[in-house]
Amino acid sequence: MTGSRAAAAELRCSTCGQSYGAFSWTELPTVRILTSAEVHEHVTTWPEEMVVAVRTCRGCGAPMARTAQHRIRPFAVERIEPVGR
Ligand SMILES: [Zn+2]
Repeated sequence: MTGSRAAAAELRCSTCGQSYGAFSWTELPTVRILTSAEVHEHVTTWPEEMVVAVRTCRGCGAPMARTAQHRIRPFAVERIEPVGR
């Protein structure tokens, strides 16, 4: 159970072995962001604020996935329609 903290801070490409830190990872081109709702289709216990970011490796172009905290925007909350019109 060692190295789990380092693995969280650094991401290594499984294809070419290039590693990225937390900052250089965010500068890689984004393929897509899986929202928590999309992940919920496959994983039952998943935090609402967690998303999965898929980015392209700069060394070989392979896609890499990493979880990220997604700040919940108050504007994204469903609008409540008035009842009894
Ligand atoms: Zn790579």
